[in-house]
Amino acid sequence: MPIGGFNLPTQMIAAISNTDYEGTALNLNSPKIKTCVKQLKEIDFELAYLAVLTREGLKPLSRWEKPLNNHGLELLQQMGLFTKQIRRTVKTGKVVRETIFSVSPGYLLLYKKRFGDQPIDKSAATTRFEGFLFGYPPCCVDEYIRHSYVKNNLEPKQQKNLFHWACKNCEVTPFILPAYQNTHHLVTRC
Ligand SMILES: [Zn+2]
Repeated sequence: MPIGGFNLPTQMIAAISNTDYEGTALNLNSPKIKTCVKQLKEIDFELAYLAVLTREGLKPLSRWEKPLNNHGLELLQQMGLFTKQIRRTVKTGKVVRETIFSVSPGYLLLYKKRFGDQPIDKSAATTRFEGFLFGYPPCCVDEYIRHSYVKNNLEPKQQKNLFHWACKNCEVTPFILPAYQNTHHLVTRC
């Protein structure tokens, strides 16, 4: 059901009132949600992982840069996520379509206003703004802008579960890492 140009997850309202959701948290024991996660994993494990992280509020917004068809979009919506596809261009002028999803349409709107129909760029300002939307700790984003991939204190296995590169002696990442690891484990098991 499109509302204000956004694709409202059609089953969201019904789902909230039953046992698929406990408060705002996703119930990964619900057969319906499990099926969604499994089907998203069939498309790509990382897509399923991003969907659950975003649905759990660990990431305000996520971006999927590979093509995604209507079935993929519907699965995200069935997870209680708002989705939007954004037209971007690359240096050669080629048009690419990104899929963004969030529990809040406000974040999708913010992304669209800033990046809709715009060329993809890697400037510091863009990296900062994306870092904010993707739920990255600002300290890690700042260090990444200064020097990318400085050796940090994480085990390679821990770093692999994250989408940001943790800064050296990061004070924020240790607090969010367990939630990422737990989510990764749940999605793997699903
Ligand atoms: Zn940091």
